[in-house]
Parts: sequence; C-alpha cells; structure tokens
Amino acid sequence: MARDLYAVLELPPKSPLGEVKKAYKRLARKYHPDLNPGDKSSEDRFKEISEAYAILSDPDKKKKYDTRGYVEDFAPPQGGRGVHFEGFNFEDLGGAANFSDIFESFFQGARQPDNRPESGSDIVIPVTLTLHEAFSGKKVKLTVPHKTPCSACGGSGRTAPARRGACPKCGGSGKEGISKGPFQFARPCRHCGGTGNNPGEICASCGGSGRKDAVDKIEVTIPAGVDTGSRIRAKGKGEAGKFGGPSGSLFIETHITKDHLFEREGPNLKVRLPVTFSEAGLGAKIEIPTMTGKTLLKIPPNTGSGQVFRLRGKGMPSLLGGSSGDLLVEVYISVPDVIDEKSKELLREFERLNPENPRKKMGL
Ligand SMILES: [Zn+2]
Ligand SMILES: [Zn+2]
Repeated sequence: MARDLYAVLELPPKSPLGEVKKAYKRLARKYHPDLNPGDKSSEDRFKEISEAYAILSDPDKKKKYDTRGYVEDFAPPQGGRGVHFEGFNFEDLGGAANFSDIFESFFQGARQPDNRPESGSDIVIPVTLTLHEAFSGKKVKLTVPHKTPCSACGGSGRTAPARRGACPKCGGSGKEGISKGPFQFARPCRHCGGTGNNPGEICASCGGSGRKDAVDKIEVTIPAGVDTGSRIRAKGKGEAGKFGGPSGSLFIETHITKDHLFEREGPNLKVRLPVTFSEAGLGAKIEIPTMTGKTLLKIPPNTGSGQVFRLRGKGMPSLLGGSSGDLLVEVYISVPDVIDEKSKELLREFERLNPENPRKKMGL
C-alpha cells in the first residue's frame, strides 16, 4: 500500500497540519458514505481519506512520515462502516454540523418511530366534597373528555393490516435517511416503524393517530374517609394509548372543604364546645354534635376551659378499613352578658364566697 498520503488528501508533499485538516474537512464532506449512499467508490475514497488523515493529523506520525516517507505502525482499519468515524472530528468540521445535535435527532428517531405503540397519559380530575360527604363516601357522576381508541382502525392508525408487501416509503429496508448539515444518517422508517412492511393507508377517521376525542360519563363511588389530596384510581380510564398502546389511568383527586363545626386532624375530628359558667362549675350532661347526629356528653364538675373530651370512634372512617378516628371535644367557657342587677348581685355574692385569685400561680 505505497500511497502518497498527501496525494490522497489532494495536497502537495509535507503540507502543514492546518492544511491537512482543511483538506480532510473538505473531502470528508464530499465523500462521506452517508452522503453517497450505495456508492462504493465514494465509500472507498472516504476510507482512504480517513486513513491518510489518521496518520497525518497525528504530529508524531506526521513527522515520521515526512522524514522517512512511511510509518511502520500504519495498519489500515478493518472493514465495517464504524471505521469511518476514526479520526473524524465533528468539531473540526464546524458550521451546521454539531455532534450532539446529530446524535440526538438520530437517537430520537430511533426511539420513537411515528407509529410505535405508546401508553396513554393519565388524567387527573379534581372532585370537591364537603366533610360530611367525605365522612360517608359519595357517588359522583363525572364527565371525562379523553382520547379513546379509534374504532375505524382499531387504534392502529392505519386502515389495512401490515401484511401487504414492502413499505412504499423505505422500499422494505425499514430505514430512512435524515440530513443534518452535510451529513445523512439512517433511522427506522417512520412510515412503517422500521418493520419494512406496508403499514397500509392512514386511517381517515382518526388521521393516523389511532385515537379520537370522546367524552365519558362515568359514575365513581368515592370511599368514606378520603382527605384532601386522596386519589382514587380507575385503571385504563385515562387517555387511550397511541397506535394501540395501553390506556392510561383516570385519577380522581379529592378536595375537602372546610366545615363550620368540625376541624379535621388526620383521622380525628375536633369540635370546640361552649359551656356556661354554671355547667362548667357544677358539671352537666350536654348535647353535642357529631358527624352522625347529636349525642350526650357528660362533663364533670369543675371542668375548665381548654379541657378535651375524647369520643372514641366518632372521628373519620378509615380509608384502609381500619378503625375510625376519634372526636375530640374541647370545652370553653362562654360568659353570659350580665345586665340585670339581680345577676350582678349574685356574682358579687359568689365572689365573696370564693375569694381565690386564679392568677396566683403567675406570681400576681
Ligand atoms: Zn418503511
Ligand atoms: Zn383510526
């Protein structure tokens, strides 16, 4: 293989490295096999150019070659198209061709041919419930706009099954070329998804997507015990997949409005209960609200403000089927308007009988 490597690059002998790079850039653009598909002579030429460049772009090897006219470790690369990229620096080529751009689009193309099955996305529908509805559970009717598989093509996006000879776009090779700057790459044919088979005509009913707009009217039973942010999943009720892919899920996300009486603390409910001064002092049986109706709470004599009574199992039901939470009743003393003289006199009398100072513990 006694070739003049400079001649291969169409250069005078011992041209400087800068000229070598320029020449390679120019010739690689001209003879790159992906720009000349099927042209054997271009491919051979490109191989030759790459081999010459591999040596002359290496300062040590170039020096040896310039002084002796040969390099002993020159082993021409063995066949296969991979070798074309040896010593081929995309950055050197500058301009429109950007290495990562080329490969990004190349691999995107490889990953997602136009009609490969794709899972449908999930749909999340918010549903607002009162605390009482969350307590007892509720059936809700929902109108869900979503994509459904096209019935005309069975979701494939094509009118005929894929068994009618070769794909007309790629001629059955399953590949198509894409251009990036001066380069061309092969990726799976988008028309047939890389199978090479004729996928048939695009379905006129769905335009080839395999899906159509639809509105589902569904009834969902929201279980008792849901909280704000709870999600109920209806599998397969989301968007239809593309080209026959599986449907996504429908999620119903609950939001619970604030109740005027009960405050929720996880599984428990809390209610603030006003009692009179005499009820607190003497003790009493008091009617209190719960989620299921009224019930009686017995408070002992000398109940103070802020004291909490726990009614087990009167809180929110458990979503997971465990035991219900509790109802926490916090007592506070409601002071009546003292207007008439008789009441005032009784209070003064009470104070004379109970001269204690409640702020004593505060050092007052
Ligand atoms: Zn094709
Ligand atoms: Zn269709």
